[in-house]
Amino acid sequence: MKDVIIIGGGLAGLSAAWRLKNHDILLLESENRVGGRVMSERRGNYWMNWGGHVYAGKGSATDELLKSVGVKALPVPGKLSAMHLNGKLLLNGRVELYPFRVPMSWKSRLSLLKAGAKVRAAVIKYGKVAKQLEHEDYSVRQQRILDFMNNKTFTDFTGALPVDADAIFRPTVSRSTGEPEQISAGAGIGYFHMIWNKEGGLSQNIMGGPSTLTNTIACRLKEQIKLNAQVSEVIKNNDFVTVRYKIGDTEYTETAKYVILATPAPITQKITKNLSPKLEHALKQVKYGPHVSASFLTNETSEQVWDDVYAFATPKKSFDILIHNSNVVHAMHNKREQGSSFMTFSPANRGKALIDKSEAEILEIYLTDLEEMFPGFRNLVVEAKVNKFPYGSAYVYPGRGQIQATLTEPDGRLFLAGDYLGTFYTETAIQTGFTAAQNINSLLGFNKMEEMQNIL
Ligand SMILES: Cc1cc2nc3c(=O)[nH]c(=O)nc-3n(C[C@H](O)[C@H](O)[C@H](O)COP(=O)(O)OP(=O)(O)OC[C@H]3O[C@@H](n4cnc5c(N)ncnc54)[C@H](O)[C@@H]3O)c2cc1C
Repeated sequence: MKDVIIIGGGLAGLSAAWRLKNHDILLLESENRVGGRVMSERRGNYWMNWGGHVYAGKGSATDELLKSVGVKALPVPGKLSAMHLNGKLLLNGRVELYPFRVPMSWKSRLSLLKAGAKVRAAVIKYGKVAKQLEHEDYSVRQQRILDFMNNKTFTDFTGALPVDADAIFRPTVSRSTGEPEQISAGAGIGYFHMIWNKEGGLSQNIMGGPSTLTNTIACRLKEQIKLNAQVSEVIKNNDFVTVRYKIGDTEYTETAKYVILATPAPITQKITKNLSPKLEHALKQVKYGPHVSASFLTNETSEQVWDDVYAFATPKKSFDILIHNSNVVHAMHNKREQGSSFMTFSPANRGKALIDKSEAEILEIYLTDLEEMFPGFRNLVVEAKVNKFPYGSAYVYPGRGQIQATLTEPDGRLFLAGDYLGTFYTETAIQTGFTAAQNINSLLGFNKMEEMQNIL
């Protein structure tokens, strides 16, 4: 019997495994790689990226993990608030004045100013609610954040907006994978807080690409990880847990004292056969939207308009945001290096519109939009690849706060971990992986002490 079986080799599962590595553990991952929604590949000094790209900084669980694994992260360099709208590229200047610099009706401009002022005031309130208090456990803060304006949608809060005003708000909010009509007002405001406060939120790039972190952990854990291992059944018993999985056509059964389920909520609910009815019900309430993303590698040799910009909001396009991943590499050199690396991503309804299309179709749609932003872009592309994430992210909807206590309570010998247990994406994944590991470390230590005392 194993001490612990961890199901899922995304950041949540790997963080838990990292903390439990001195016990007899086994991590089962259904894909032929670890990382889950963290996915990048090296290309010379650059990397192509399809999943999480910005990570939490100082004082976070992410920072703790990066340091203990020995992986370097640097603050995201460059501008975060560039925008392309109605044929115009805005690279700098005050965001509040953007509506006056792009063609749009006066009705849209006035609505934007009104809604913008309302959101700004709410962002200040959110900042107070989200502040980490001294000696406060992260779960107390998380519940407070989930409960913030959790009784209405973001659209209820702003009111219906004219087309151009709506188009400016939508790409920021829908990065959560929910549309403004679906996500809670508090969650939408939290997104603006994250963007307007570069210091606090997700603000670090992992050098070499995000998979540097997940692959380094996997290399160290070696035979404690099994890839291509599809878990089909988890059954909790009084004294142990049974896990059934398949590698190719071969079926395996393994038992463990404890199990960490680090899979997205619908998978956790599907594979675990005897969850408590309350937890099963709560897992069914978690709502996800899709993400489709693509990575592009270019080979230009001269300076470009995107130099020193990290993120472009792209309202009314097939993607909500364009990320210039290589900006952190360019920032490290005095001379302009050849080439760049980009990521487009399409969450929520933009993702739904693309997810059933072929890779060639998706790339053509993306390249048409990119060509409109940067004429001549298509001819610079040397490599492009798409990835689809049906469970892109779990979004916070009105009422979501009510299931938090149930979701974060262990169920007998089962512990849950994953980004859907909070609002900080990779940071939540790592934090919940650490928490599950801490609980199990404590229980295993207690059991071992009892055994030793019985021998004496
Ligand atoms: C396009 C995109 C951009 C993003 N950008 C950011 C960002 O910039 N910053 C940020 O913080 N977050 C971002 N996120 C979210 C972030 O990637 C996730 O929050 C985080 O990676 C989730 O980690 P996880 O371990 O909870 O889940 P996952 O990464 O989904 O891991 C779950 C693992 O379980 C495995 N699995 C599933 N079923 C089984 C089974 N039956 N048996 C065994 N294994 C199984 C999966 O293959 C997967 O590896 C982004 C996500 C996407 C898709």
